[in-house]
Amino acid sequence: MPLSEFLTVYPLAFILFALVLGLVIGSFLNVLVWRLPKMLERDWRQQALEVLGLPGDAAGPIYNLMLPQSHCPHCAHPLRARDNIPLLSYLCLRGRCAHCRAPISARYPLVELACCLVSGFVAWDFGFGWQAGAMLLLSWGLLALCLIDADHQLLPDVLVLPLLWLGLIINAGELFVPLPDALWGAVAGYLSLWTVYWLFKLLTGKEGIGHGDFKLLALLGAWGGWQILPLTILLASLVGAVLGLIWLRLNKVNAATPIPFGPYLAIAGWIALLWGGQITDFYWHFVGLK
Ligand SMILES: [Zn+2]
Repeated sequence: MPLSEFLTVYPLAFILFALVLGLVIGSFLNVLVWRLPKMLERDWRQQALEVLGLPGDAAGPIYNLMLPQSHCPHCAHPLRARDNIPLLSYLCLRGRCAHCRAPISARYPLVELACCLVSGFVAWDFGFGWQAGAMLLLSWGLLALCLIDADHQLLPDVLVLPLLWLGLIINAGELFVPLPDALWGAVAGYLSLWTVYWLFKLLTGKEGIGHGDFKLLALLGAWGGWQILPLTILLASLVGAVLGLIWLRLNKVNAATPIPFGPYLAIAGWIALLWGGQITDFYWHFVGLK
């Protein structure tokens, strides 16, 4: 039996496969989230030096996604293969470096676990097929964007734009929505936050949301069609308001401190893509209009 047929006939095998794949991808996302912003920053410095005609090379460590090999941030000792197994190594080493015993941030195994669970859930929800494959790619991309935006207030174009194009391309075959819905989803997604940005700027003189957020909402519209946009913005604002207030309390900073909006948009868009229809149906039933 070919593998694709096997995974279709045995959904549990597909879910297990997705869970393991999610762990491995989660481990890669940890590297991506840590290194990509540093790679971009070095690139921008280099470009700035060239534009200004200044001599020399941009400072900062040279990274790419393969090199240098993963190492302990404390003692710089490279990780052995068996210390680099997602989740398991962290548990076996009880959260400490095998070489110098310095504690390792719990964030790494948590990201791996989150990626594992999200991947398993997508496999369970869609079953084996193109939809599940596309949705896995999108989920991994959104997870990386959430983490980078939370760390650096940055939604890198090198991740957002390919995913936006991919959304249009897969919907050319009507994978999730018809192509016109996807196209207008991208346009309306971009323009709605662009409008909010300019209104806010004209009224207050401040910048409320970043340009990356326009593109992220355009991406979500390209995947789920314009229909998911109202729910996405509503959910993102609700979750953002609640979590944002908690975050401000915990970090004892004032309300003018910028809070990244990207993670809320990404999570809300993901939820709207999976359950948008059910949520709006429930709402119309709830208010008695259906
Ligand atoms: Zn160490």
